[in-house]
Amino acid sequence: MKLRFRYYELHLQHTFTISRSSSNIRPSVIVEIEHDGIIGYGESAPSERYGEDKSTVTEFLKRIDLSQFSDPFELEDILCYIGNLSDGNNSAKAGIDIALHDWIGKKLNLPVWKFLGFNKSKMPSTSYTIGIDSIAMIEQKVKEAESFPILKVKVGVHDDIEIIKSIRNLTDKIIRVDANEGWKSKEEALEKILRLEEQGIELIEQPMPADDLEGTAWLRERVHIPLIADESFRYSKNLRNLHGVFDGINIKLMKCSGMREAVRAIHAAGTLNMKIMIGCMIESSVGISAAAQLSALADYVDLDGNLLIANDPFSGINVLNGKLILSDLPGLGVHSK
Ligand SMILES: [Mg+2]
Repeated sequence: MKLRFRYYELHLQHTFTISRSSSNIRPSVIVEIEHDGIIGYGESAPSERYGEDKSTVTEFLKRIDLSQFSDPFELEDILCYIGNLSDGNNSAKAGIDIALHDWIGKKLNLPVWKFLGFNKSKMPSTSYTIGIDSIAMIEQKVKEAESFPILKVKVGVHDDIEIIKSIRNLTDKIIRVDANEGWKSKEEALEKILRLEEQGIELIEQPMPADDLEGTAWLRERVHIPLIADESFRYSKNLRNLHGVFDGINIKLMKCSGMREAVRAIHAAGTLNMKIMIGCMIESSVGISAAAQLSALADYVDLDGNLLIANDPFSGINVLNGKLILSDLPGLGVHSK
């Protein structure tokens, strides 16, 4: 098995602003695993919020030696070896996991969703993300998102209520709100959520700093819409602490280390009666297609990272009126442009 990878800069169509940061370019490392004349594609989209960047990903990938394995079907052993190389580095690990799944699908001549046994027609519509911006720009973005039935709006700044009111004046679509840990006290979060509830918001993602589970539990008892953990949730092992605090979790391949761990987390959350959102970082169509393969198991889908960039190096995952259309091609169904 040969492992190759290359750095690729994803250019955003609009400056992307959330409560803690703003960016025009996001890093991506495209991973290739070649064996038996077949290339499986993967992607690592690191986030500094989780201690990763371009160099941590490439340094981690350089340490991987796949020569001890006979083929990508040894998925569990390979991922176990990679998991034991070091803690963290989950987007780097996801790049390998995704490439192995793509390779296996191509070898079997089956789409990944099919060999995993999922029904691609059962995928919920994806939301479309509106980053923090001036009210005028937000109104323009809402118009650009016309074909999407669900909006996910980033807040966590001083004029959160005005942002949501201005969007609500334009549309009666489902609105989900993501505070990205931006509300620093439980009292501020409570006041804002109660006012946002009046605007018909469906759910709130990560209202409080990730470690403030006590504050979030206090909030949970006082608000009336679901609270979804994003920054508070990484992988199945830290799920237990979130039970009773949040109503659901946002699973991202780049946080949890890939598709295999994402499926594990989905089943674990199901046993706790928690809702599942499948989300993403800013990623190319490789990462988005990988997450989309699992989306039939989700209550909420937030997979628009590839739609927010201007230079996607891959194609193969399409969206029609907010529904992701999975390909019937083998593997992830993506190809290099
Ligand atoms: Mg989020």
